[in-house]
Amino acid sequence: MTKGHIGVTTENIFPVIKQFLYSDHEIFLRELVANAVDATQKMKTLASTGEFSGDLGELKVKVELDEKAKTLKITDRGIGMTAEEVDKYINQIAFSSAGEFLEKYKEQAGGIIGHFGLGFYSAFMVSSKVTIESLSWKEGSKPVFWSCDGSPEFEMNECVREDRGTTITLYLDGDSDEFASKGRIEGLLQKYCKFMPVPVVFGKKTEWKDGKSVETDEDNVINSVEPIWTKAPSDLKDEDYMNFYHALYPMEEDPMFYIHLNVDYPFTLTGVLYFPKIKERMAIDKNKIQLFCNQMFVTDHVDNIVPDFLTLLHGVIDSPDIPLNVSRSYLQADANVKKISTYITKKVADRLEQIFKEQRETLEEKWDNIKLFIEYGMLSDEKFCERAVNFALLKDVDGKYYSFEEYRKAVEEQQTDKDKKVVLLYATDTEKQYSAIEAAKNLGYNVLLMDCELDSHFVGLLEQKIKDARCARVDSEPASRLIPKEDEVKPTMSEDDSKALSELFKGALPQGPEWTVEAANLGEDGEPVLITQNEFMRRYREMSSIGGGMNFYGSMPQMYDVKVNMENPVIAKIWGDREGTAELLHQVVDLALLANGLLTGKALAEFIARSEKLLV
Ligand code: ADP
Repeated sequence: MTKGHIGVTTENIFPVIKQFLYSDHEIFLRELVANAVDATQKMKTLASTGEFSGDLGELKVKVELDEKAKTLKITDRGIGMTAEEVDKYINQIAFSSAGEFLEKYKEQAGGIIGHFGLGFYSAFMVSSKVTIESLSWKEGSKPVFWSCDGSPEFEMNECVREDRGTTITLYLDGDSDEFASKGRIEGLLQKYCKFMPVPVVFGKKTEWKDGKSVETDEDNVINSVEPIWTKAPSDLKDEDYMNFYHALYPMEEDPMFYIHLNVDYPFTLTGVLYFPKIKERMAIDKNKIQLFCNQMFVTDHVDNIVPDFLTLLHGVIDSPDIPLNVSRSYLQADANVKKISTYITKKVADRLEQIFKEQRETLEEKWDNIKLFIEYGMLSDEKFCERAVNFALLKDVDGKYYSFEEYRKAVEEQQTDKDKKVVLLYATDTEKQYSAIEAAKNLGYNVLLMDCELDSHFVGLLEQKIKDARCARVDSEPASRLIPKEDEVKPTMSEDDSKALSELFKGALPQGPEWTVEAANLGEDGEPVLITQNEFMRRYREMSSIGGGMNFYGSMPQMYDVKVNMENPVIAKIWGDREGTAELLHQVVDLALLANGLLTGKALAEFIARSEKLLV
């Protein structure tokens, strides 16, 4: 028997390990199973190169829990270790890198991604004692036993072992009782090992017999060793992608589209991303993308690895080139991570453009469910926006879809104003803005539907991306003034009269909002009074309400323009006999307020009473 002192610089690293990584103790299992998988993969490589010509046996990793004894064993049939190797890899290297890792971790309190690089010694986060029994694949090796109780002292011995490979036994400590439960271990294996490349077995499958669950002879294999992202897209059908999606997210509806990622240069990355059905940005779950490293689960927090708008996607990304033992804030600055993020953005754009070109109908059908995602991407990521202007769709109030280019072509003849700007009319609510929409349509205009929560930002983007265009909400002006073809001819009126007109009408308008009253010529048949809201003022208010930070505008009172149609006979009558028409004045003003949904409560009751009186 040998006794020795492990290669640790700190006097005793175990309390440090426990203390620093308290919240993430569970990752020990991933680390140990990953080591077992690595050792097995190395064995396969030796066999394929011919260095090993014996019997490989059944290459499985076995996890066994004894709930009563509170021991957990992880056994593999990998390359194993000789006594010299245990001394080198475990006593010297593993523990010295442990010390290093913890030094680094202390400074980077920001959380190290997936706590990678912990390796073998993470076993001590949950154990009072850890033993290794191992038999190397090398001819003539003797089995070796190693044991350590969490002090820097270890013990090494020869032992009896027939099978090639390694068994790590954890004697769970008092604070780690939670892991002495089959359910807990199965849960962890499901989380971390679901797609590892070597079968991981945890006990036997169970079945229901005579009202209770009994064990069968069949191994309970946790993982699928060849998940679809490791396969060639040409070998897969739509159905495979859908099945995989539902295996990952059992509660979700079918996704809209998927993208298979596959690149080997200048970095290695594979994966499958899905567009989920998105209705409301606030309602959806981010962090549905799972990050793997060689089929080993790392984290489901991929922010800092993919641009923010892509975190709305679902699926998996597997890349050994994402640095995993660094803090999250460091990730963003990493050159590989930047390249990966650019690559994924480009792939997503490529795929959408392909769908636009080859499956236009499908894109239109699913547009409403992915529109929010695309608008968010266009507003937040310039590179994506540059691409998306080619495939993003606009929908009009009648449900017809256009690309940006198609739309400009479709409306430019009818809707170019006197300043040579194409005016893109839009509605945010087809119910509330019904009469304005109808009025615009009667003039031969088209009206876009912009009813998504990001649309108030998005109209601003449209103005930049569509050449010589400006947007106007369909009720921001009287229909005839929405797209002025020539300068407006205003009624001639003295300054005193304008003031008197303004005061007269303000007297009939409710307190609160700021009203700008102006005489206008809207034709004999035009409405007597028209209330509109300035396009820009309204947009600023809306943007600040979804958190654009423009609180100055958000806290301003509502502002409305009131146009008094001097050509309308009722207005002529009111203006000619101001004393005798007080009720009529109130009536026309209230009608205009009513058309804008601004007449409520007491004012509405008074309006109804007055109407009844006028009718008799
Ligand atoms: P890492 O896996 O990052 O190298 P670890 O601390 O997990 O660090 O392991 C240190 C070394 O111990 C490994 O590189 C490997 O050589 C050896 N080792 C650990 N577990 C096993 C195992 N199950 N079979 C064979 N060798 C192992």
